[in-house]
Amino acid sequence: MSLPSYTRGPQDKPLLPMTIGMAFDRTVERFPEREALVVCQENLRYTWSELAAEVDRCARGLLALGLHTGDRLGIWSPNNSQWCITQLATARIGVILVNINPAYRLNELEYALKQSGCRWLICADTFKTSDYHAMLYELLPELDVSAPGELHSRRLPELQGIITLGARPGAGMLQWQALQSMADQIGPEQLHQRAASLQFDDPINIQYTSGTTGFPKGATLSHYNILNNGYMVGESLGLTEHDRLVIPVPLYHCFGMVMGNLGCVTHGTTMVYPGAAFEPEATLQAVADERGTILYGVPTMFIAMLDHPARRTLDLSSLRSGIMAGATCPIEVMKRVIDEMHMAEVQIAYGMTETSPVSVQTGAADDLERRVTSVGRTQPHLESKIINEQGQIVPRGHIGELCTRGYSVMLSYWSNPEATAEAIDDAGWMHTGDLAQMDEQGYVKIVGRNKDMIIRGGENLYPREIEEFLFTHPAVADAQVIGVPDTRFGEEIVAWVKLHPGHDIEPEALREFCQGRIAHFKIPRHIKLVEDFPMTVTGKVQKFRMREISMAELGLDAQQD
Ligand code: AMP
Repeated sequence: MSLPSYTRGPQDKPLLPMTIGMAFDRTVERFPEREALVVCQENLRYTWSELAAEVDRCARGLLALGLHTGDRLGIWSPNNSQWCITQLATARIGVILVNINPAYRLNELEYALKQSGCRWLICADTFKTSDYHAMLYELLPELDVSAPGELHSRRLPELQGIITLGARPGAGMLQWQALQSMADQIGPEQLHQRAASLQFDDPINIQYTSGTTGFPKGATLSHYNILNNGYMVGESLGLTEHDRLVIPVPLYHCFGMVMGNLGCVTHGTTMVYPGAAFEPEATLQAVADERGTILYGVPTMFIAMLDHPARRTLDLSSLRSGIMAGATCPIEVMKRVIDEMHMAEVQIAYGMTETSPVSVQTGAADDLERRVTSVGRTQPHLESKIINEQGQIVPRGHIGELCTRGYSVMLSYWSNPEATAEAIDDAGWMHTGDLAQMDEQGYVKIVGRNKDMIIRGGENLYPREIEEFLFTHPAVADAQVIGVPDTRFGEEIVAWVKLHPGHDIEPEALREFCQGRIAHFKIPRHIKLVEDFPMTVTGKVQKFRMREISMAELGLDAQQD
């Protein structure tokens, strides 16, 4: 008889029973003179002891503002050195950091600040099309005429003040440099006392989940949650103080701040930020210039790097490994990353914000086939199970909803007990909403989001399988498959396809390519050639947007959805 779809990760390596501040101190003591942080766009380098000095100054500045343990401080900025310093400084004094997506606009910003009850907000001034200052003056008309720290906002009564990272001072805002100078008001003893009073189970971070659906919810994570997840992800990669990890993924998401920053903090590995936001060329350049050994990215980032001409001319031979995660990692892309980017040991990780994030990961010892076709096995100290709609564990090989239990499951959704109770059941299992299947050896395959499954003529179709097939055509750089309503079959398949530069193929020819190679009912009825997909900043394709656009173009009535 087949085994049930349940596994538990190995437990040989103990979890770290400490706060983030304690783990940081340990690394600073071990490697004071080694490089900790390189921020390419700022031309900045810190050793661990230099970074520790910056973190201490920032932490003391925040204490001088009167921030207490458990208060919330928001950060709304693309990647930079101050992001990293703020993350470590807030952790040191028990202030809960609220990550705000730098692509958020006014409504979303107001929602996150209000929902989490932020007392202070750190913001960038401008980036690309976002003018953060202008948006803040619109949201907070009182800011202009307030003294820094004395904001009395009608819309956000709990918000006391804004700290700007910008070079030009904004009226009513405190500048980052001024915050650092305020550190002098607080002695080292006060900082020490605060740090010593913290518990590792305290909440330390709120991350609003990606907003591919519904209202964002604030996943509330403890020191223990995210420190240990960063640690275990780093262990899986075999990180050491000799590694240099290139982090082009956003810091406001756990891929950057947990798997990146905390993975490095727990191993003494150097953090390298190639730029404020992902650019393929800048990332490849950072790998070459900084002799990066490990590179992170979501699949679309790797696709962009593989297709960039700089990949051929730059020396990427320092790379040995990395992680592709955050969305379905196409097999063809994994193979090319191994062959063409020197990332022989590249791994796939699967997870979600609510589980700190990683719960399943491939390992260096897994064979190539497993490393490119599955998301690996359950991470250390965690449990995975796959259940049917009745909540029963299904036999190995059957598709069902993946659930995760263990140290990495968030404390709650901030101030939202109903949503928390819907996501985490009484036995502590986080229900992911992802459909998966587990093989006899415990390797997990993600077949798609629950709600993205297409039911065509009574047949359950998983977009992933069709996407993987389209990838095998040499002209196809990326493919995303959705279902749209159809009067005859219930749903019909639509594929959006992005071609490699310089390639040209008619949609009809692509459909012909499918004939005889995949079952006729899996062949997309409509194929749309696109330059890009609607994406979240964290590299997730917004399939609900694709669906809206395709339905409008095909003249389908939204009522049918
Ligand atoms: P987030 O909370 O923004 O990190 O999004 C989590 C979601 O991303 C998961 O529930 C999955 O749907 C998706 N995801 C993350 N990693 C993978 C992966 N390796 N393969 C497929 N989907 C993934």
